[in-house]
Amino acid sequence: MLEHLKSALEKRKTDGLLRQRRLLDSPQAEHIVANSQKYLSFCSNDYLGLANHPALVAAMQKAAGDSGVGSGASNLITGHHRYHDNLEKQLAKFVGLPAALLFSTGYMANIGVLGALVGRNDAIFADKLNHACLNDGSYYSLAEFNRFAHNDVAALESLLKDSIAKHKLIAVDAVFSMDGDLAPLPEYLALCEKYDAYLYIDDAHGFGVLGEHGEGSLTHFNLKSPRIIVMATLGKAAGVAGAFVAGEQVVIDYLIQTAKSYVYSTPAPPALSATLSASVNLIEQGDDLREHLRRLIAYFKDNLYCKKWQLMPSITAVQPLLVGSNQEALSLSEYLQTLGILVPAIRPPTVPVDTARLRISLSAAHTLDDIKALIAAIHQAEQVL
Ligand SMILES: *Cc1c(COP(=O)(O)O)cnc(C)c1O
Repeated sequence: MLEHLKSALEKRKTDGLLRQRRLLDSPQAEHIVANSQKYLSFCSNDYLGLANHPALVAAMQKAAGDSGVGSGASNLITGHHRYHDNLEKQLAKFVGLPAALLFSTGYMANIGVLGALVGRNDAIFADKLNHACLNDGSYYSLAEFNRFAHNDVAALESLLKDSIAKHKLIAVDAVFSMDGDLAPLPEYLALCEKYDAYLYIDDAHGFGVLGEHGEGSLTHFNLKSPRIIVMATLGKAAGVAGAFVAGEQVVIDYLIQTAKSYVYSTPAPPALSATLSASVNLIEQGDDLREHLRRLIAYFKDNLYCKKWQLMPSITAVQPLLVGSNQEALSLSEYLQTLGILVPAIRPPTVPVDTARLRISLSAAHTLDDIKALIAAIHQAEQVL
């Protein structure tokens, strides 16, 4: 086996697909120290700049002081702390659903929820560009796994029409992580009504950013239905770590009994939940942060004049610049790095073949000057590469 691993790694290297971790020596922020160099970064999902917020750092220190650093037992034994419980109630109220349940990561949430809610005689309907952990959760569930072309409502409808599955679950990213575009959730909900299906929404990139006060995609689209189950991660705009699932009380009650990644796993430390409660308060009061972010996004889209590479149709903080070839995307990313700007090149299998891109991620922590520096650097790269 070791020989096989070695040659598989070598093949990745010759294909230009070997991934390398950068060593971060600063907090996650818009200005970081990576591999001992200072950079202006457009890499993080910390869309509101909360990952190093002084109030949250203080909240975590205080909570560690009164609740310790470890949960110590699984949720159904003695691991469910009042801080976890408070956060669940706060999140449910914030997103406007009856109940919520915490998971230690978004990955664990998707695997646990899909595995619990559907099984052998059921079917999942998934967008082809869904995040990897929705795919993994679907495989793990053993439900029939139907994929439809990206955002193709008609293709989804024809799959639903033909389905004889007992329970049908449409599972989609609300904001696509590598494209930045939105799923047509109102159309999907209408299909749920028509074909007696349920809608599982992964709002990893909408929570904190979309909606009137950052409640996420449900509020953005003004959706309300007992057919909706939403999952959002707490390590992106919320700036900390973890995830939650929200929906009808009966759904949450059922997940507490049956979601294996909930039942057989130690919850994140209660101090993280206390920190997240403070973070959700900041999100709720963060209209000025979201307004600043919207201005930066608009400025970037209006002022990037690039012929060689195309911005993709996104209104969100994820602004991908489509390059095409793996090598060219990598060269562009490396060139920007020589100018002190970090933007990740995203290559297959994370994105489809021949659609390698720069994933430019904007944050409320950026200044207008940061955006101007990025635009100038891309224009310069276009002349040189
Ligand atoms: C990041 C992400 C996840 C995983 O969440 P983690 O908390 O980082 O494990 C799930 N879904 C989508 C769409 C994501 O972007």
